[in-house]
Amino acid sequence: MNAREAVAAVVDPEIRVITIDELGVLRDVDVDSTTGRVTVTITPTYTGCPAMDVIRADIRRALYAAGHPDAEVVTVYAPAWSTDWISESGRAKLAAAGIAPPGPSARRGAVPLALGVRCPRCGSAETEQLSRFGSTACKSLWRCRSCREPFDHVKAL
Ligand SMILES: [Zn+2]
Repeated sequence: MNAREAVAAVVDPEIRVITIDELGVLRDVDVDSTTGRVTVTITPTYTGCPAMDVIRADIRRALYAAGHPDAEVVTVYAPAWSTDWISESGRAKLAAAGIAPPGPSARRGAVPLALGVRCPRCGSAETEQLSRFGSTACKSLWRCRSCREPFDHVKAL
């Protein structure tokens, strides 16, 4: 397996259904043709997400297993990560896992109207926020008024 494939397959430690590639965290994988040294560039998601340390360790572990023991993980903060970087397949996987994907980020000029969050189970727009924080700081906890199921929502950023 090449270095790029090995790194792209690393899953987010908090939302295990989605890879760091689909999450938009993975920016670049560069292999030095002379030394074989792999340089991976990532951009963290939410500030203070403890998952980033786990992601760095998982990247090194994946590269080691794929035959690339010499690896470095570089973190870049600009441009800042946005939930808009989550790929279409990533959004589909979140919804399939019962996690409401984020809406468009207000930063991109989208109108930050209360569009509402749709229930990932039944699709109802009749939802309410129970808590600003869900199972992790990156998510908020919501409940569907139609099917009455609580669910996590990845906050738009
Ligand atoms: Zn529902």
